[in-house]
Amino acid sequence: MAAATAARLQEHYRKNVVPDLMKARGYKTTLDAALHGNNIPPAVVENLIASTKAGTEPLRRYHRLRKRVLGVDTYHQYDATVPLVEFDRKYPYEEVLDWLPASVTPLGEPYRTELRDLLFGDWIDVYENRGKRSGAYSAPVYGVHPYMLLNYNDTLDAVFTLAHEMGHSMHTILSNDHQPFVYSSYTIFVAEVPSTLNEALFLDYMLARAEDDRERIVLLQHAIDNIAGTF
Ligand SMILES: [Zn+2]
Repeated sequence: MAAATAARLQEHYRKNVVPDLMKARGYKTTLDAALHGNNIPPAVVENLIASTKAGTEPLRRYHRLRKRVLGVDTYHQYDATVPLVEFDRKYPYEEVLDWLPASVTPLGEPYRTELRDLLFGDWIDVYENRGKRSGAYSAPVYGVHPYMLLNYNDTLDAVFTLAHEMGHSMHTILSNDHQPFVYSSYTIFVAEVPSTLNEALFLDYMLARAEDDRERIVLLQHAIDNIAGTF
């Protein structure tokens, strides 16, 4: 679809369809309408926006530092993703299998053991393959176990994707163990909490075992990009 057409459709949706639905259902605002399904008070979103606006200074400082390191006069959106150092270290899948359980040690022994079993449970489609879809996900199946799809390519990004999806899978396992079927699926509002927590724990672990400043810089750039991206 042409970009202009898509933009017009989006504009139409935002201006007409959403407010119409809101009015038809008797909501005061479109925000109320959007949040009702998950029973989230609008103050949560308003607070989130206010906190974000108040907390942008470290991110600005980071980009001022990048501008200086890259040695550019003007700094554009596309400069924000340029790597700061040369780095082509590979992270073979077999190698990271021991790192992931170790990284979640702060969550306690039962969690660590469960994650280990999941990792070695033969439920993960690891590598790229002919006709396989791209990306990565964890698919919950109540009463069985989650299935995971990856397109692992030995990069640092791929390792963090694995850590992220393991967070979703562990969430599924714990939710299925403790909730009846009707309450077992979780909402989008909480879904990214365990996945990003596992990524944060994995970052700590990787920073502690990093071999040189080059790897540390790449890890921190990945972490900062990820915070902004997740937001
Ligand atoms: Zn996720």
